[in-house]
Amino acid sequence: MTDRYAGKSIIITGAGSGLGQAVAERLAAEGAQLVLVDLNAEGLEATKQLVLDAAPQVQVEVITADVTREENVKKYVDATVAKFGKIDGFFNNAGIEGKQNLTEDFGAEEFAKVIAVNLNGVFQGMAHVLKQMREQGFGSIVNTASVGGIRGVGNQSGYAASKHGVIGLTRNSAREYGQFGIRINAIAPGAIMTAMVENSLKQMDPDNWESAGEQFVSVNPMKRFGKPEEVGGLVSFLLSEDAGFINGTVIPIDGGQHAMY
Ligand code: NAD
Repeated sequence: MTDRYAGKSIIITGAGSGLGQAVAERLAAEGAQLVLVDLNAEGLEATKQLVLDAAPQVQVEVITADVTREENVKKYVDATVAKFGKIDGFFNNAGIEGKQNLTEDFGAEEFAKVIAVNLNGVFQGMAHVLKQMREQGFGSIVNTASVGGIRGVGNQSGYAASKHGVIGLTRNSAREYGQFGIRINAIAPGAIMTAMVENSLKQMDPDNWESAGEQFVSVNPMKRFGKPEEVGGLVSFLLSEDAGFINGTVIPIDGGQHAMY
């Protein structure tokens, strides 16, 4: 492991589980000081413990916040600046899948709920973090889109619309902020085994979700689920200076699934 994050302060949303948790562990191992944000206070404590077990010297703040509420977004940004004086990196990652259904049955309420977290939450996070990054004159953002943001998945109107939207926001803002020394990229994961994917498989086949999972990945070129720590490696690279001239791009991390369409 490098110490390329020594002295860097990073905000991670959705840090109480899955990809956010894995990125927290990876960045801590590389010396980052962290602000972990999630709705789920228990999940945040679990991530904090994992981080401190692996890297006891790391400074970790946890903030229970709902990314759909602008005052909560402002709270986690202000708390980071108060504690660390700057924001070097932002993993803008909290998201939900929503209930799977045909478009005609998806429902306006469910659609609005998924958009509120996955798109409005990402937008508000960017807006508040970018204000600070522009003042300080540096920073890097990674937004979590999805393979469902670059192709059709089916039965996921809200999710697909929100994740396509995240890619639009990424490209738009990258174009605006590159001139200020700020890079904004997105990742497009496909089927990484986390609580979200487990719930998704349970929606498809509640009684045999594990065999539904095997079937699901049987068409993937690598014929397996991705691991959260593999996403940790990608996000750690993208947020770091090693990716210093990578801006406005979307990187699939899906075992090659996106290449099949
Ligand atoms: P997860 O369910 O394990 O973690 C998501 C976290 O986000 C949870 O801790 C949850 O409490 C938090 N969260 C949800 N709504 C929130 C809100 N309003 N405010 C604050 N926190 C909130 O899922 P994951 O697989 O780790 O997903 C992380 C991101 O990756 C999501 O944006 C998801 O859409 C995306 N993604 C995941 C996969 C995958 O295969 N796992 C694939 C593509 C995209």
